[in-house]
Amino acid sequence: MVKERVRILVVGGGYVGMYTALRLQRKLKRQLRRGDIEITVVSPDPYMTYQPFLPEAAAGSISPRHVVVPLRRVLPECRVVIGEVTAVDHAVRTAAVTTLATERHGRAAELFGYDELVLAPGSVSRTLPVPGLAEHAIGFKTVEEAIGLRNHVIEQMDIASSTRDPALRDAALTFVFVGGGYAGVEALGELQDMARYAARYYPNLRPEDMKWVLVEATGRVLPEVGPELGRHTVTQLRRRNIQVLLDTRLESCAGRVAVLSDGRRFPTRTVVWTAGVKPHPVLAATDLPLDPRGRLRCTAQLAVEGTEHAWAAGDAAAVPDVTATEPGATTAPNAQHALRQARVLGDNIVHTLRGEPLRTYSHRQLGAVASLGLHKGVAQVYGRRLTGRPAWLLHRAYHLSRVPTFNRKARVLAEWTLAGLFKREIVSLGSLEHPRAEFERAAGGKPPRRHPDPPKGSS
Ligand SMILES: Cc1cc2nc3c(=O)[nH]c(=O)nc-3n(C[C@H](O)[C@H](O)[C@H](O)COP(=O)(O)OP(=O)(O)OC[C@H]3O[C@@H](n4cnc5c(N)ncnc54)[C@H](O)[C@@H]3O)c2cc1C
Repeated sequence: MVKERVRILVVGGGYVGMYTALRLQRKLKRQLRRGDIEITVVSPDPYMTYQPFLPEAAAGSISPRHVVVPLRRVLPECRVVIGEVTAVDHAVRTAAVTTLATERHGRAAELFGYDELVLAPGSVSRTLPVPGLAEHAIGFKTVEEAIGLRNHVIEQMDIASSTRDPALRDAALTFVFVGGGYAGVEALGELQDMARYAARYYPNLRPEDMKWVLVEATGRVLPEVGPELGRHTVTQLRRRNIQVLLDTRLESCAGRVAVLSDGRRFPTRTVVWTAGVKPHPVLAATDLPLDPRGRLRCTAQLAVEGTEHAWAAGDAAAVPDVTATEPGATTAPNAQHALRQARVLGDNIVHTLRGEPLRTYSHRQLGAVASLGLHKGVAQVYGRRLTGRPAWLLHRAYHLSRVPTFNRKARVLAEWTLAGLFKREIVSLGSLEHPRAEFERAAGGKPPRRHPDPPKGSS
């Protein structure tokens, strides 16, 4: 079968990167042990983030460590390199990689040669040239952002409860989320739920004092669950005193004032930007074909179009949706597709090495689930619609079944069980982001404030 040492380079350690490497590791076990094949996974972080759990991590229902999967533990047969691919020259089969070592010692990127390339760097937040956005807003794609936002929200409650300045109090208690997709709605739903609960521990703060605002440019939220459940979600959020502003855009957040396209102005210290994603910009630094949206053009077998030995899937790839009726449709950027595509992609690399025919990726979306806070949710499965606690339970059951490794499943389940028995955690550990502050103060350096800055990127 495999005659010479084949080098497989996987760019990205997210859904596609990790699951493809897992598949290859399982299917090519003997060749890997014999040294006939080498798999290298390049990822900026040593872990895969299970993004659907980020809203629950922000609410404190799941610890940050249990939202991530350590790559070295699940991929013992692969070489895991912590670094970033900065360019790919597929014509000569090389990728430029910066690692911590190259960065810290000012060295040039290293060139990694490969025989098969899996390009899965996912997506980044799609921002717009809104004044003040880069300075004051925070995204919601990483575990650092989710935990930073949790700490920030609790800190705003501390600020509000300790000031006599009504303008500062009002701004601290106003939370603006932009974008009504999964990330925005779930993050807002979970954080508002947590903050309302936490308010009982602040004698001078009532849940009604807080202003939670969801700004959505289109006329609907959560398009994944369908129009009816989208409308239901809006009604539920409004019942919870959340202002859902449809057909409205954020025009500016300069000077800590969120200005909307309908003329409304919200002085605020919190703007969360979840208005969609765009393919990772590293794709533009390759010699591979991109579609007008910047995604890698792929075949339904997950090979990059018009090339050999280059593969892609997930948020970074334009994969034809062979189940769709309209011509030219591509699969949506979500975890359901990313996970399933990774399996087919892994199999197709093995088929290529063995000279066998390739599999076609075909998957019809079965449904969608979303959590709107503790015991609240919406779900649409096989055409059936669920709301409230049943939907929330389904959301938890589905994601528990999907989160990788038995170890993670057991830990998450244990946390949920314990959370059902005890009160919610309402502490902010924002000072963890500044571990040297206390020592610097003791050592007589510039006396830093105990909570020097809001979380990275937030106002
Ligand atoms: C808050 C949130 C909630 C979500 N909830 C759901 C949900 O409920 N259901 C659902 O179906 N989908 C959900 N999604 C979407 C889903 O998580 C993504 O579609 C999925 O992660 C895409 O997988 P991917 O492998 O393409 O990208 P990712 O999983 O993002 O992985 C990309 C990886 O590439 C790495 N990388 C980036 N640049 C480089 C580089 N230059 N070199 C090397 N590595 C690089 C990144 O660090 C990352 O590890 C959610 C997303 C978010 C943000």
